[in-house]
Order: sequence, then C-alpha cells, then structure tokens
Amino acid sequence: MAKPARKTQVPKLSQPNPAALLAWYDRHRRRLPWRALPGEIADPYAVWLSEIMLQQTTVTAVKPYYEKFLARWPTVGDLASADVAAVMTAWAGLGYYARARNLHKCAIAVAENHGGIFPDTEEGLLALPGIGPYTAAAIAAIAFDHHAVVVDGNVERVMARLFAVEEPLPHSKGRLRELAATLTPQKRAGDYAQGVMDLGATVCTPTSPACVICPWSDVCIARAQGIADTLPRKVKKADVPQRYGIAYWMVRADGCVALRRRPPKGLLGGMTEVPGSEWRGDVWSEQEAVVAAPVKTKWRALPGVVTHVFTHFRLDVVVHVADISAAQAKALGRDIMWTPLMDVGEAGLPSIMAKVAKHAMKAVG
Ligand code: SF4
Repeated sequence: MAKPARKTQVPKLSQPNPAALLAWYDRHRRRLPWRALPGEIADPYAVWLSEIMLQQTTVTAVKPYYEKFLARWPTVGDLASADVAAVMTAWAGLGYYARARNLHKCAIAVAENHGGIFPDTEEGLLALPGIGPYTAAAIAAIAFDHHAVVVDGNVERVMARLFAVEEPLPHSKGRLRELAATLTPQKRAGDYAQGVMDLGATVCTPTSPACVICPWSDVCIARAQGIADTLPRKVKKADVPQRYGIAYWMVRADGCVALRRRPPKGLLGGMTEVPGSEWRGDVWSEQEAVVAAPVKTKWRALPGVVTHVFTHFRLDVVVHVADISAAQAKALGRDIMWTPLMDVGEAGLPSIMAKVAKHAMKAVG
C-alpha cells in the first residue's frame, strides 16, 4: 500500500487573489472555437452548445462535433426546426445521448418561449431542458458576464489544492463550492470561471501539477505542504457491474444489413442500433442467444467479444451473424432499416454499435 504523503508544516499563507488568475488567463487562455476573443461578446448559443457537448466529454472530442453542429444549424432557431432524428444522427459517437434529445428540446423551448433569445439569469436558464446548475452558472457567467459561481471537476481540483481540503469527494463538494464562491469576483466572472477551468486543464492537472508556472503557487497550501498531487482525495468507487448482450448482424442477399431505432427513452434512446438482446448480468449461452434471435435461421457466433464501458456498467457483446432470405426480411417488419453495407458508417451509430458493426464487417466482409 502506498505511504500517505508527509505534510510539511507551513506558515499561514495569504488568500488567493482572483486578479492574479485573470492576469494569467489574459496571457495563457486556451483558444477554443466556442470562445469569444478578448473584446468580443460571447454568443449564448455557442456557449450553450459547447457546454452541453463538454459534459463528461473532452475538448478534443467535442471540437469536430461543435463545428459540425454550428455549420449545419447556425442559430438556435435552426436547431429548433431540425428533425430530432437528424440531431441524434449528427450527435452519434459523442455519447450520453440524452444530451442530444434535451439539446433539441431546449432549442425548441428557447425558440418558442423566449423568441430565440436565451434567458440571461441562472434561474431562467435552469428552467430549460437539459440545463443543470453547473451549465446554468457557466452560461450566465461566460455568455452574460453575470456573477455566477461555476464549479466543474477542474475547479474542484484547484480549490481542493489551494486550500488543502483533505475531505474526499464527493463529500467535500459543498465545501469546495463555498471556497470557489469566496474567490469569484464581481467583475469578469466569466473570464475568471474560464481561467480557473483552464488552470485546472493545463497547469493544475490531476497527476502532476506544474506548480512552478502557476499564478497561485505562492498562496497554494497543498503545494506548500507537499501534498498537491494527492488532492483531491476521492471515495473509492464500487466495482462497475458487468452486463452481457448479443447483437444480431443480419445481411440480406442484396448486401443490406438490418438496423433499427431504439425506443426514444432510456439508454441510447432514439439512437440507431444493430438489433440485439437485452443486456443482462448473466452470460448468454449459445442456445439462449439463438432462442432470443429476432428470426429463426442459421446463426453463427463470431469469435471475440465487443466491449464497451458505460458510466454505470461494462458491456460485453457477442455478435451473431446470419444471411437473411427475402421472406425472413419481410417477417422482421417495418421497424428494420435495411441499410447498404457501404452506408453503415453514415447511419449515426453510437460508439458501442459502431464497434459491433466494425467487428461484424471485419469477420464477414
Ligand atoms: Fe495547483 Fe500547484 Fe497551482 Fe496549487 S500551486 S493550484 S497545486 S498548480
């Protein structure tokens, strides 16, 4: 077991000064496509779109999606008028698909109830679909420069270290928020929020904080105590449950493959999928997989397993393949979207289904 870090006794340090962080931000801010340049006014639509996409997702992954959405739907009104299936398809691969459904609902609410203009208060923003406390505060601060306390994982890490908060997350969330509130300035709250987030993303990083170039290094208690890289502490997570599923890769004589749309609610709701079994805690036997198949035919289980990790569980999928006759294809009903193999890549499959399709195509050509 790793030895606990030995703390160094330090004299009382001064309170961190937001002005030092803002001066650092003015010189070192990240250039991001959704950010207004110095002197420009931020576009609330761009801020909202980016904040929704950035939930649980990295900047690198978000950039191409953000640019695609903005090019296709340049205003919130354009997005509100879009077909929800087109929005879901454009979102495919970004994950956490409830965000895409709520994104569309929110665009409609802004277009229909607010004349296409985002509310500028945290309260007004919170009333919109898909906008929680963090996102409301971020939009209020960044798009409207209101005094709002913005706390994400980066901010929590920086606060935990600045003030050497040793209570583990998530229990320390309230305390970290209070500390963040004490530092948030009345003026330039949006730049300040982005500055702390940038500091957390580029300097005060999770494993090896670059304290020598940090604008708050002389007031950081964790740095002075020599425990910066041990904070924030976290309560140990329970093991992620394991689930198992079967995917049925059905190919018609004309080379089209069976896809279908998932029910609108629930995990991956409304997304396109390869038809499959339920995802359960027990491994599927070969016989169970054949019985659960959508059509009685000669199935062949492909070697190997497709694995995907969701937030709350890990999924192993075995892919079964079969050639389907015209009569069987008809019996499968109208819910099936028979898709030419060469178009499967454009079908808007979420990551797990894209992996299933890749696995099947590699095996059967
Ligand atoms: Fe983080 Fe180091 Fe700066 Fe403290 S001094 S806030 S630990 S980068």
